[in-house]
Amino acid sequence: MDLESLKRSYIEKEQTPTQMLDGIYKKIEDDELNDFILLSKNYAYEQAYLSEKRYEKKDGILKLDGIPFSIKDNFAVKGLRMTCGSKMLSDFVSPYDSTVYKRLKEAGAVLIGKNNMDEFAMGSSNETSFFGIVKNPFDKSYVPGGSSGGSAAAVGADHSLFSIGSDTGGSIRQPASFCGVVGFKPTYGKISRYGLVAFSSSLDTVGIITKSVKDCKEVFDVLRGDDGHDSTIEDLKPQRRELKNIGFVEKLEHVDKNVFKIYIDYCSKLEKLGFKLKPIVLDFIEISMAAYKIQTMCEASSNLARFDGIKYGLQHFSGDDLEGMYARVRGEGFGKEVKRRIISGTYFLMHNDGEYYNLSFKLRDYIANRIDILFKDIDLLILPTSLSLPFKMGEKIEDPLMMHLSDSLTAFANLANVPAISINADYFNSLPVGIQFVGKRNDDDNLLDSLSTIQMELKKDE
Ligand code: GLN
Repeated sequence: MDLESLKRSYIEKEQTPTQMLDGIYKKIEDDELNDFILLSKNYAYEQAYLSEKRYEKKDGILKLDGIPFSIKDNFAVKGLRMTCGSKMLSDFVSPYDSTVYKRLKEAGAVLIGKNNMDEFAMGSSNETSFFGIVKNPFDKSYVPGGSSGGSAAAVGADHSLFSIGSDTGGSIRQPASFCGVVGFKPTYGKISRYGLVAFSSSLDTVGIITKSVKDCKEVFDVLRGDDGHDSTIEDLKPQRRELKNIGFVEKLEHVDKNVFKIYIDYCSKLEKLGFKLKPIVLDFIEISMAAYKIQTMCEASSNLARFDGIKYGLQHFSGDDLEGMYARVRGEGFGKEVKRRIISGTYFLMHNDGEYYNLSFKLRDYIANRIDILFKDIDLLILPTSLSLPFKMGEKIEDPLMMHLSDSLTAFANLANVPAISINADYFNSLPVGIQFVGKRNDDDNLLDSLSTIQMELKKDE
């Protein structure tokens, strides 16, 4: 169900927001996907009750009134636990609201709960969460992708109408692709990060997971813009224009052949809709992976230094000296993947006065430049979202290099600060395959409008 039809069903009294919640909570329990770390039933029923009153009075109905949504567990909601999928924060209760939550609440949306995620948003399969693996709603033996895997699974399984996630190198788009839903990462600086736990601050982007692009645009308009708490916000509005020229790649290394076939078929559909497809070469993927790894590891090692057993989360006061206490808390509180990144990041930062980190910014400029040049000839870029189909649980978790390859086609959009969105293109062996559209910097509105039209046109042909 989409936002508009759900609101209509409330207005026409086919159901109430409270009945909707009853159905959703039952489904979450029955499906057993482990897509939630916490269910906020008290909050939800309180909000739904207020919504119900507004619908009854037919007065003061808000933009997202009574719409159930969920949020990744690295966003702050006052009075609720915020774990980031980590043992380190397993008992931490947030003392304030993130801007995204505050805006959604003010728009009347109803919080179902906090979604499971890879620990501190590091991962591509949701297998690194301290709270257990999330299951793919299409087949429970497969992963939902990561790190916003709980969010994508929740929307895919109709446990919420939309979910808020974070995307640093693909964490919204790749799970959206694996769960057959829409995942949007806006241009950096559109949505405030206030109340989002930082992983890699210069790349972290707040984004949205929905069933349709139209819904995504509606939620985006509620969330965007300055809040006085994030100095990187700059919500420039593009000139409205039609996007016609699409760049596509004729060849791609390491991609699963079934994924690539779906991609090429999708490109032909776009041609039939009247878009002009132009072949382009993407030869900076490998460089982008190096830059992405160095930047995120350096920034993570610095951002996660605050988890020292004193201010937040896990504590151990058992007679150790200060260093001993840090070691014990951090040794116990963080999982393997988080430790791997902190150690690598610390090494990169210490080596030759931060030489690697500085170099990664040069690579980033180079990639952004290359993208800008590409966008002189095209309006949109289309790519598969992921090199592979959803994979089985356990298949890649012991092989970090293979797992890291999962970000190859998504990380460059974060490095270049451009908007990107994954939408479902088709299915192979009943598993969903997503296609990614990348837009020009700040062209988010045109990207969403064109995609919304494309999605509706292609639906008509089905
Ligand atoms: N899979 C990527 C990683 O593990 C992406 C993470 C993200 O976007 N938060 O780094």
